[in-house]
Amino acid sequence: MDLLTALVDKGLRRELPSREEALAVLATSDDDLLDVVAAAGRVRRQWFGHRVKLNYLVNLKSGLCPEDCSYCSQRLGSQAGILKYTWLKPEEAAAAASAGVAGGAKRVCLVASGRGPTDRDVDRVSQTIAAIKDQNEDVEVCACLGLLSGGQADRLRAAGADAYNHNLNTSEGTYGSITTTHTYADRVDTVQQAQAAGLSACSGLIAGMGESDEDLVDVVFGLRELDPDSVPVNFLIPFEGTPLAEQWNLTPQRCLRILAMVRFVCPDVEVRLAGGREVHLRTMQPLALHLANSIFLGDYLTSEGQAGQADLDMIADAGFEVEGADTVTLPEHRSAGVCGTHEAGCGSGGCGEGDAGGCHDTAAEPAVPAARTDLVAVRRRGAGTDLPPNA
Ligand code: SF4
Repeated sequence: MDLLTALVDKGLRRELPSREEALAVLATSDDDLLDVVAAAGRVRRQWFGHRVKLNYLVNLKSGLCPEDCSYCSQRLGSQAGILKYTWLKPEEAAAAASAGVAGGAKRVCLVASGRGPTDRDVDRVSQTIAAIKDQNEDVEVCACLGLLSGGQADRLRAAGADAYNHNLNTSEGTYGSITTTHTYADRVDTVQQAQAAGLSACSGLIAGMGESDEDLVDVVFGLRELDPDSVPVNFLIPFEGTPLAEQWNLTPQRCLRILAMVRFVCPDVEVRLAGGREVHLRTMQPLALHLANSIFLGDYLTSEGQAGQADLDMIADAGFEVEGADTVTLPEHRSAGVCGTHEAGCGSGGCGEGDAGGCHDTAAEPAVPAARTDLVAVRRRGAGTDLPPNA
């Protein structure tokens, strides 16, 4: 297929595909799916070999958020029956983090609900980072605390944070229909503040919120422009009690096409298979490892993932290996400096122009994918509970 040959060539050279090519990946038919995965898998292996980086989420503060992000079970007015608790103590967070590290995670992601941290919250998280690094000196710590204000990124960096996560989530054009309490530009600004402070930026998207293919390509091209070191790809978990509860739009095949498109657009960036993989990819999860080089181990913020051991078994059975703490995740041209810098961009090429190929089949998606509410389990273990975490 001309399209895939062109995209592999560009991915191996870190050149940006054209929007038409990215759209064409999303429009490929199910008959071509394995060819698409194999092609994007070549790009993944060029930059990341067979390694899979494991990341572990610690929800420091759950629920009761004043923001109204429609996809979020912690939003203002959410009726989802999630765990709600205020800040974990540093030693509680460190214990949860240690469980993830013992399970193989090399990065711990410290997440707190809310619009953004107060300076006191930054102090609190700084103490938590110190407690985690006391117990696990080499672990990477990523903070995800919402919108940052002046000087907070620098303070987190000084406290030992390696990275900061703030997702763009959806395209600028659709942002206002998903969230009204802050803007796409606010999110871009926070990612840029993190980068300016020397934090490795992590920023990604959520697919399955009713967006068009054009919206998906827009947000992924927006991410490439922003040049984060890692790009989490979430698939919407339509929580009952949230405005998007009825949005069951994804099939496993669609998820794989989205991951392949992200890999082609951001060939040398850590593409992380994130929330919703068990719910939407289901038994097709191992194929996604040919596209993403990073996953979350165990549970998510407010929902349960599959057992941590099942993640490890899946990685081994699919012929991949867990990335060790002594291995640098990013390719050498991106990883000079601390935990990844961004001098080269998601790729270093300009805007590519190319033949979009002849493999469109927009009838490939089932009209209404089945709602798999049976696969959505609210998290009832780990951080904020008396039960051991899943790692
Ligand atoms: S700001 Fe964060 S925690 Fe609050 S509703 Fe939005 S995504 Fe959820």
